[in-house]
Amino acid sequence: MDRIISTFEELYICCTKYNKQIWEIAQEREAEQAEISINEFRAIVKKSLDAMKEAIKNGLHSKEMSMSGMCGDDCYRLQERYKKQHALFGSAFEKITTYALSTIEENLRMGKIVACPTAGSCAIVPSVLVGFSDELNIDEESQINALITAGEVGRIISNKVALAGAVAGCQAECGVASAMSAAALTQLRGGKIEEILNAMALAMKNLLGLTCDPVCGLVEIPCVKRNPFLAIHAVTASELALAGISSKIPPDEVIDALEQTGKLMSPTLKESSQAGLAKTKTAIELEKRLLK
Ligand code: SF4
Repeated sequence: MDRIISTFEELYICCTKYNKQIWEIAQEREAEQAEISINEFRAIVKKSLDAMKEAIKNGLHSKEMSMSGMCGDDCYRLQERYKKQHALFGSAFEKITTYALSTIEENLRMGKIVACPTAGSCAIVPSVLVGFSDELNIDEESQINALITAGEVGRIISNKVALAGAVAGCQAECGVASAMSAAALTQLRGGKIEEILNAMALAMKNLLGLTCDPVCGLVEIPCVKRNPFLAIHAVTASELALAGISSKIPPDEVIDALEQTGKLMSPTLKESSQAGLAKTKTAIELEKRLLK
């Protein structure tokens, strides 16, 4: 097995050469490198999947506000709304959006979450993966396979770009989480390798330039609401890819653009709260109130 896979092109070649799925290639390599069996590796992934499900469950039953008092009850509001009127796009949409809010609000309350790839973007992969699986009764082994694929996508991107808002803006946090989710969802829906990679690229390239401008320096505004938005973004990318719509810019070149955009982005828009939403009139008022 080719041990070094640093690009999506290498991943595609490896999958084709050995006639294996992305998750198979990834799990074999990870188990080999960690000197554990494939079953032991899958047990570790299952632990993460279980933690994601637990965060979703906890978040669905709480409306406790964060310490700042700015966020914490949006999941409750959304569930109340869906009780009165169903979402235009059906029950899968309802699950994905509520699971995204429940997980990110669990993060605000210092509950246990899985950083995937970061805490601020922790709800995108779980909401898409678990929301879709709950909707269609997808078995656990397939969910683990999809999570391994999401992880492989994140790993390859992180070879080029540090997955941190402070380094490359929110495109490298919520943007990458959306790309990971698009890949996982496309796999769950029976997509071919090229469709999985196209879904990843479509999601990623439509989030290039996304800045990180958290209000009061807290991972709350705009982070909380960004999670359900970008979960649905991943679904759109997956739908397009499964229709055979490809990214005209190949996956690795999209990641090159992500890296370049991150470098060109002003430091004032990279988690420093010096511009953007963080310096709006309302944000400044909120900050004054918090300081008091
Ligand atoms: S806006 Fe910044 S802090 Fe918030 S999720 Fe995005 S990268 Fe993280």
